[in-house]
Amino acid sequence: MATESFDLVILGSGSTAFAGALRAQELGKSVVMTEERTIGGTCVNRGCLPSKNLIDAAKLVFDARNPRYPGIAPAELRVDFPALIRQKDDVVASYRKKKYESLVGETVRFERGHARFADPKTIDVDGRMFVGRAILIATGSRPVVPEIPGLDQIPFLTSDLLAMGEQEELRELPRSMLIVGAGYIALELGQMFARFGTDVTIIERGSELLGHGYEPAVGPAVREILDAEGIRILRSTSVHSVRRDGDEVVALADVAGRRRELRVQHLLVATGRRPNTDGVAIERAGVELGSRGQVLVDETLQTNVADIFAAGDVIGAEHGAQMATPVGSQDGGIAAWNALSNQPRRRLDHRVIPRTIFIDPPLAIVGVTEDEAIAAGHRCWCSTVPMSLVPRAGAARDTRGFIKMVADADTDEVLGVTMLGHGAGEVIHEAAMAMRFHARVADFIELLHVFPTMAEALKIVAISRFKDPSKLSCCAE
Ligand SMILES: Cc1cc2nc3c(=O)[nH]c(=O)nc-3n(C[C@H](O)[C@H](O)[C@H](O)COP(=O)(O)OP(=O)(O)OC[C@H]3O[C@@H](n4cnc5c(N)ncnc54)[C@H](O)[C@@H]3O)c2cc1C
Repeated sequence: MATESFDLVILGSGSTAFAGALRAQELGKSVVMTEERTIGGTCVNRGCLPSKNLIDAAKLVFDARNPRYPGIAPAELRVDFPALIRQKDDVVASYRKKKYESLVGETVRFERGHARFADPKTIDVDGRMFVGRAILIATGSRPVVPEIPGLDQIPFLTSDLLAMGEQEELRELPRSMLIVGAGYIALELGQMFARFGTDVTIIERGSELLGHGYEPAVGPAVREILDAEGIRILRSTSVHSVRRDGDEVVALADVAGRRRELRVQHLLVATGRRPNTDGVAIERAGVELGSRGQVLVDETLQTNVADIFAAGDVIGAEHGAQMATPVGSQDGGIAAWNALSNQPRRRLDHRVIPRTIFIDPPLAIVGVTEDEAIAAGHRCWCSTVPMSLVPRAGAARDTRGFIKMVADADTDEVLGVTMLGHGAGEVIHEAAMAMRFHARVADFIELLHVFPTMAEALKIVAISRFKDPSKLSCCAE
């Protein structure tokens, strides 16, 4: 059996793996990446890129149908869903070529096939053996499939439905869709399909959307926005069983204590993602896993086995990580540096991770919520300001949402920001950068903001520390 040796052998070829491979290349080291599906992994092929491409298209359709301005008549844009999918595939293919495929070659080797450990130093890719001075596990995550009676008997969709050229992909617009789960993928895709014309029902197990880990005001506000678009949200609901009836799926669900039958064309199961650690013969390497199947790592991203590192979705929420592309990309580079550089090790830094749920208007968050700040022992100053107080929101006639700032009442250091509103995904970066430098509430006030912008929401909520922001003139402090 042929065996080749490399400085770094990487399991996976997603954005985490690429970051690790490029860092190895910069360090002048030899590296091989492995992939059993499509080069580039989840983000480019079936996650971030295709979803944001289609979410923006759906917004065009929605805005045309719902112009916010008297004087502009609503227009019905005809949606050719298969054509939209084709253009999405073009965008994905071209981005994948530029950002992934074109980067592999002689110095970054790419090997197709299923990778698993043969021993702590050797990766077996369908019979080809690759020995690594160091190994990086970057196998990402996959959709969780819950145990619902009947689910294994019927076809259903997962968050892989935007994949291109894979069995899981969806190329026709569903007439109706039941989404089990109400996390960020469910909400983003649910609103997108509804805007294209699908009759969407979302099932939430808890009593409110986005409960745990979010400010309490978020769930009701998001629900109101989705509700106004005709998306049905069933709370305190669990699916009892599913079956197929002709070309429909029938779900028996307990909705707030009452059994109901829900009939739809497609079922989308979006109940979270789990790390891909069960198919790599990890026991042969002796690498320890956590209770959710995540690879356990220290702050340098090394596992319990010397020279085996892990990063990206596969480490789950370890050390405050999030399953998001920029987190994996940063950590993949750090892991490769620590594995190969012979320089002092870099530690991961997950203190400030901004994130966005790309619903419309977007929900963006950085840092902690009020409850989390109190639980961490802070005496809190917190304030919430509705978007109606942000001049730009009023000018653009979209005042949905709010901004909340959480600060330490003694030091005035800002600890967290939640913003639901137009442009929140961009605005959150100002808060994140400020928090990186331990900014105080007053820093947001003293920074001149462009008028009128949505970023002024940060300044206005900060001003509410000292005075009533509803009594301000223009951009006065
Ligand atoms: C619908 C959707 C929307 C998303 N939107 C966003 C967003 O807007 N912003 C954001 O930051 N994140 C988003 N994400 C999350 C983001 O895609 C992931 O966090 C990111 O892709 C993780 O990168 P990774 O390299 O760690 O893993 P992956 O990209 O999953 O790469 C791992 C790769 O390893 C391969 N692999 C696994 N096991 C093996 C094996 N044994 N042998 C060989 N290959 C193997 C897999 O096939 C996969 O290609 C989204 C995800 C989904 C599903």
